[in-house]
Amino acid sequence: MAEAGSRRYPQQLTSHLRDLSKEKNNELQLYREWTFCHIKDSGETDRRCPCGKTGIRYLCYIKNRITGMLTFVGTKCVEFFDEEMKEVLKLSLGLISTGVTGKYKGLQKNGKKKRFEVRANSKIVKKEPRLKALFKHVPIYQKRNKKWEIQAFTQRDDLTLDECYTMKIKSSRWTQDYGNGITFRVTELERIQSLNNYYEIEF
Ligand SMILES: [Zn+2]
Repeated sequence: MAEAGSRRYPQQLTSHLRDLSKEKNNELQLYREWTFCHIKDSGETDRRCPCGKTGIRYLCYIKNRITGMLTFVGTKCVEFFDEEMKEVLKLSLGLISTGVTGKYKGLQKNGKKKRFEVRANSKIVKKEPRLKALFKHVPIYQKRNKKWEIQAFTQRDDLTLDECYTMKIKSSRWTQDYGNGITFRVTELERIQSLNNYYEIEF
């Protein structure tokens, strides 16, 4: 373990990242080159983090903003990056592992995303102000009727209007000339009876 500031970075992880980074010596600087992109459910439980830890299922992809290289780390090591992103990370992990429930409300106007009404007391809505502070474009909206809605990409075209679905969602960060944002993509979807008899597990 090497010390950088108040943090201790795993040595194996540092040497893995060093090969993909511009900075080669200053560890703090080196780690700061990396930002969190998205979490992927590998569907397996025996993946390995570059730090050496095994038994990893959720892969947290990080991107180097200077070299453009992409790699992944486990859900523990990802906390070494992007201090201000911790809440987003936690939400992203919740969305892909526990999921969210929503009532299908049809296609987005002039777009390809699908709209789902979510409960006002759901985690995703509670995090909305925080996400808005970090990103310009966040696909969570409060409608004129005060109901909340998320917009997500999904390949599924067999959805029924006003039916409820439980979804696992992959959230990704992006940056363009016109600002930054997050995108939701449905990775798993299942129809349920109603929003009310679904118990949301804390994450
Ligand atoms: Zn690790």
